[in-house]
Amino acid sequence: MGSIGINLQEVRRRIAAACVASARDATIVTHSDATGGKPGLLLLAVSKTFDAAAVREAHAAGQLAFGENYVQEGLAKIAALAELRPRIEWHLIGPLQSNKTRDVARAYDWVHTVDRLKVAQRLSEQRPPALAPLQVCLQVNISGEASKSGVAPAELPALARAIAALPRLRLRGLMAIPEPARDVEAQRAPHRELARLLAGLVEQGLALDTLSMGMSADLEAAVAEGATIVRVGTAIFGRR
Ligand SMILES: *Cc1c(COP(=O)(O)O)cnc(C)c1O
Repeated sequence: MGSIGINLQEVRRRIAAACVASARDATIVTHSDATGGKPGLLLLAVSKTFDAAAVREAHAAGQLAFGENYVQEGLAKIAALAELRPRIEWHLIGPLQSNKTRDVARAYDWVHTVDRLKVAQRLSEQRPPALAPLQVCLQVNISGEASKSGVAPAELPALARAIAALPRLRLRGLMAIPEPARDVEAQRAPHRELARLLAGLVEQGLALDTLSMGMSADLEAAVAEGATIVRVGTAIFGRR
């Protein structure tokens, strides 16, 4: 097995250990459509800056869900690996400008970074009828930091209601990129806050089931707070 396959095994071991440590009964899944008895926890392999050959190697090791940050880079890989679909799925996890929505609506399965109604409306209008609805998460600016991406928590309920009503999108939940923190306790706080925000929306009647949180450095903290998708790049593909 190549190094990517070995790294994938190690990341799966870390996720499984984090589930045990927090008494979570979850199955680690490789595809968001995976069904089974237990709730699924999707390992999303973030392949940004790595080439199609690296994605192939991960796929050969059983990985089926891939995340890309940059729209164009992702589109090129999606095209280069077209013969692997629909077995593999593609998630956009980076910023999305409204002039790129048409390409994204045609090529991706998930978008984790919706934070404006206008972008969501365009994605819904442009999602081809032949495809399943585009799965989306709202990116929340959880640390309130200088980074301008993400909806402010106070604006979340209204935006979530508006986007949940769009016909060609399926709003699944929330995503965040917390500021780096040193220890697991400090890492857990923003993840707990995102989980609390999701629970609030569910209480208001929205059928949401997804918490996209946790990366190479903080996946244990995210799993402990209920992540259902962890987005892992470096620990699988190596340093960028
Ligand atoms: C790059 C990236 C990741 C993966 O980060 P690693 O630290 O390499 O695991 C996850 N989420 C987003 C939004 C990213 O941009």
